[in-house]
Amino acid sequence: MKLFERAKELLRILKAVLSAIFIKDRPLEFVTALVRDYRIQKSSCRLSLYVTSVCSLDCEECIMQFLMKADPKYQMSLEELERFIQASEYSNYSFDFLLTGGEPLIWKNLREGLKRLRRSRICNSIQILSNAMNIDRLDDEIMGYLDGLRVSEYSTNKDNIQILLKKWPDKIWFVNREEFWMNPKTPVPGTLPAKCLNPEMLLYKDQVFACPHSRSIALSAQSELRLGNPVAPHFMKGLFWLKFAQQAEICTRCISNQRVREKTKKTRNIVRPERAA
Ligand code: SF4
Repeated sequence: MKLFERAKELLRILKAVLSAIFIKDRPLEFVTALVRDYRIQKSSCRLSLYVTSVCSLDCEECIMQFLMKADPKYQMSLEELERFIQASEYSNYSFDFLLTGGEPLIWKNLREGLKRLRRSRICNSIQILSNAMNIDRLDDEIMGYLDGLRVSEYSTNKDNIQILLKKWPDKIWFVNREEFWMNPKTPVPGTLPAKCLNPEMLLYKDQVFACPHSRSIALSAQSELRLGNPVAPHFMKGLFWLKFAQQAEICTRCISNQRVREKTKKTRNIVRPERAA
């Protein structure tokens, strides 16, 4: 019986692969990424948009802090977003987007950026990862563009979470981040091959990185590895091999590597709004 079920599942995957290639005309690099990430039925890859470095908090263990500090005023322009949309449309890619930063609700192009993503041919879904400190920037139009708002819960934003839950109960979910794993200062031995909990790509400054944390970790590790491809037609080609090559230098320092988490302590992820201001 088990064998029969597995054969049925394999057939289902094969049908989805053939349909992606011959009916939907998806390029090979996109289809192989879908198969590798168990997303062939969704027909959509995951990608984070690093929309701003500005943040209303200053969490001690934020893994993006090195990139935020290196480029503290960064705001993704609409022109950059358009270049990415055009290259992706040309390549016939499609994505489940997560807006990250920094704090995405501080992105100066939030409304227009979401509108453009939604009306493009590359958007399967959009979520935002937020600290819920700037909820005055949200309204029904913006929430209408979103499939969900993922909130990191701290002692500083409990009231705001209640307001969000009252207004848009179906679109809000939250995870407590008051405590978090400490960012390793040096590579943690015995943590390869990485068991990655965040396999999505990241767009930042006209580059698509193979993973969401590599650019920030590379800055802290002073690594000069190549980590991504420039935004251009078929930018996903070769990203898998870049990610493979970054393992020893980058993934051994990453708290999204499950094996690093198992060897690292959690600590109070102190947030200081006054320090961020
Ligand atoms: S650095 Fe490695 S473990 Fe961390 S998110 Fe990237 S691929 Fe995953």
